[in-house]
Formats: sequence, structure tokens, C-alpha cells
Amino acid sequence: MGCEVCGQDAPEHIWRCEKHFCCDVCRTKEDLLFWSSMLICKSCHDKRVRQRIAAFDDDTYYRDEIICPWCGDKSISDCEGTVKHKHKCSFCGQKFDITRKVDIAYTTTRTGGITTDEFTAKLRE
Ligand SMILES: [Zn+2]
Ligand SMILES: [Zn+2]
Ligand SMILES: [Zn+2]
Repeated sequence: MGCEVCGQDAPEHIWRCEKHFCCDVCRTKEDLLFWSSMLICKSCHDKRVRQRIAAFDDDTYYRDEIICPWCGDKSISDCEGTVKHKHKCSFCGQKFDITRKVDIAYTTTRTGGITTDEFTAKLRE
């Protein structure tokens, strides 16, 4: 597999050659992590998280997608079936609750214990 930046053979690291095995933002070789298609160092990632949290408002209500209430990340897939559960954002690492709104449906059940026949018989009287 070659380096995804320059295309050269990359025997030392997966996806990157030695020259490009560094943070895409500040070029350091310390504390690197792959983030989608980026290679980024921990401190540059933390900086991006801080910027996103500063720019993002707050809790979100009744959206049609799950949005992290800390950083606004939308790449969250709801894998749990419960109405309310805890989630940890993979972008900023903060925890939050997901509450799924369940559509209202009405159920009606007969009370009184009389059968349809008994009821219609009563109407004829
Ligand atoms: Zn390269
Ligand atoms: Zn960096
Ligand atoms: Zn987040």
C-alpha cells in the first residue's frame, strides 16, 4: 500500500511514507492519530475540538439526525434500540444523552365486558 499523499511505497507505516507520516496541520511526528482521511496530532485535534465546541451552541431538540450537543458532530449513528441512552462523541470525547422521540400512536380497548352481540341486542330493545 502506498502513501496516500505522494503515492510512494510506504513500508514503514500504513497509508503514509516516512516523510508524510506527520500531523497534516503542524507536521509534528508526536502523538499522531488518524482522523477520517487526516493524520493529525493530539494537540491539533484538541484545538479543533475546542474551536468546534466554542462555535457550537448547546443541546439540540427534535432534529432528524443525532448531533453532539458539545461540538455539533453529526457523524453519529444510533445503534441502540432504547428510547434514551448515553453516547460518547467520537470527535470530542464528551458524553451526552440521546433521547429518541417516539411517534404518538393511539390504542383503544373495549371496557365493560359485554360482547358485540350483547351490545347490538341491547340497541334493538
Ligand atoms: Zn508520502
Ligand atoms: Zn499537529
Ligand atoms: Zn462531540
